[in-house]
Amino acid sequence: MSAGAPKRVLILGAGFGGLELMTRLSESVPDKVNVTLIDKCEAFMFGFSKLDVLIGRRPAAELWNPYRRIAKPGVEFRHETVVSIDPVHRRVVTDAGTYDADVLVVALGADYEVSATPGLEQDGYEFYSHAGAERARDALAAFSGGAVVIGVLGPFFKCPGAPNETALLVADYLASHGLRESSTIHLVSPLPMPIPISKKTSAAIEAILAERGIEYWPSSRVLRLDPERHVAHIEADRELAYDLFLGIPVHKAPDVVLASGLAEDGWIPVDPTTFATRYEGVFAVGDVTSAPVPRAGGIAEGEAVTVAEVLIAQLTGGAEPPPYDGAGACYVELGGNLVARIDVNFLSYDTPVAKLAGPSADFVEEKRRWGSTRAERWFGEANSRADV
Ligand SMILES: Cc1cc2nc3c(=O)[nH]c(=O)nc-3n(C[C@H](O)[C@H](O)[C@H](O)COP(=O)(O)OP(=O)(O)OC[C@H]3O[C@@H](n4cnc5c(N)ncnc54)[C@H](O)[C@@H]3O)c2cc1C
Repeated sequence: MSAGAPKRVLILGAGFGGLELMTRLSESVPDKVNVTLIDKCEAFMFGFSKLDVLIGRRPAAELWNPYRRIAKPGVEFRHETVVSIDPVHRRVVTDAGTYDADVLVVALGADYEVSATPGLEQDGYEFYSHAGAERARDALAAFSGGAVVIGVLGPFFKCPGAPNETALLVADYLASHGLRESSTIHLVSPLPMPIPISKKTSAAIEAILAERGIEYWPSSRVLRLDPERHVAHIEADRELAYDLFLGIPVHKAPDVVLASGLAEDGWIPVDPTTFATRYEGVFAVGDVTSAPVPRAGGIAEGEAVTVAEVLIAQLTGGAEPPPYDGAGACYVELGGNLVARIDVNFLSYDTPVAKLAGPSADFVEEKRRWGSTRAERWFGEANSRADV
C-alpha cells in the first residue's frame, strides 16, 4: 500500500472484531484511512450480557450500546445490511448502496441454524440470539420446577465457558426462586470436557458443576427433541427428559459470507498470523473464520488488533508487526457471585494453554472493568453499557 489519498477501509460487522479494528485505525492513522463500518443492527450488546438477560438480572434495554454514538476521526458508521460481497473486486452491496474498498475486512460473526436440531424451535429455547435470550428468560420465569437441560448442539460455539456459566447461573436462579430442590440441571455437550485444551482446568470446572449438583454429560450430541414427549434424543440411543430445554444452537457463517466464495467448509480460511484471506486486500477476523482459536470476543479483538497493526505498518511504512499469538482471557461466572479467569494462548507454544485463576469475588470487578473499558473505548465515555 503506498502513501497518498486516504485508503478506503470497509469493515463489515460492528461486533468485537469490527469495533476494535475501527478504534485502532482511528487512534493511530486517522488521516490515512476513511473507515466505513457497516452493521445491520442499530446497537451492540456484549455476548455475556445475554446471560444477564436470560436470568433476568438486567433488562435487555439497559445493555445496548447504540452505534450512533460512535464519533471517531476517520470513521463513519452505516446502519445497513450487507447483501453481497465480491472479494475479487472488494465490492460490497448493502440494502442501501454499493461500496468499493481498498481494504475489506469481514467481521460478520456467526449466525445460528436453529432448524439443524429438529424440535428445538417447537419445544426448546435457544438463548444465544438477543430475541432468543428474552424468550428463554420468560420461559425460565414461568418454570415451576422439574428437569432443566442445557444442550450444546454443535461442535463450534461462541465462548467455551458459556455453557458452564449458564448451568451455574441457572442453578443460582432456581435456588433464589425456591425451585432448586424440586429441579435437576443437566449440561449436555458434544465436547469431551469443558475446556478441551486443558484437562486440569476442565477437571476444576467439572468439580464445581458436581458440587452444585449439575449433572454433566460430556461427549453427548443431542440429535433432536421430541416435542410430544419432551425428551432429547442423544447419540448412542440415549434419551433425556426435560421440562425446560435451553439450547446453544448450531452455528454457521452468515449466508452472505457463504454465498461470497470466501468460505471453505463453512468458514473463512485465513492466514492465522495476519488474518489475510486468499484474496488480495481482504481480511477476516472473529467468529466467521476457521482460525484454530475459540470463538470468543476477546479472541476476535486480538485478531482485529493484528489486522490493525498489519494495516498501520503498510500505511506508515513501519516494520512488519509480530504474528498473532492467539492469547486472550475469558471470564467464567460460577454462580454465588464468583468469577474465574481462564488465560488462553493458542499459537505461541507447541500446544495450546488454558490456565484457570480463581474462582474469586475479585474477578467479578475485573470482568466488569473488562467490559466497561471496551465499551468506553468503542462508544465513548459515559455512554457505554456493559455488565457482568
Ligand atoms: C451467551 C454468550 C456469552 C458469551 N460470553 C463471552 C465472554 O464472556 N467472553 C468473550 O470473550 N466472548 C463471549 N462470547 C462470545 C462473543 O460474543 C463472540 O465470540 C464475539 O462477539 C465475536 O466477535 P465478532 O466480531 O467475530 O462477531 P460479532 O460480535 O458477533 O459481530 C458480528 C456483527 O456482524 C453483524 N452482521 C451479521 N450479518 C450482517 C449483515 N449481513 N449485514 C450487516 N451486519 C451484519 C452483526 O449484527 C454483528 O454486530 C459470548 C457469546 C454469547 C452468545
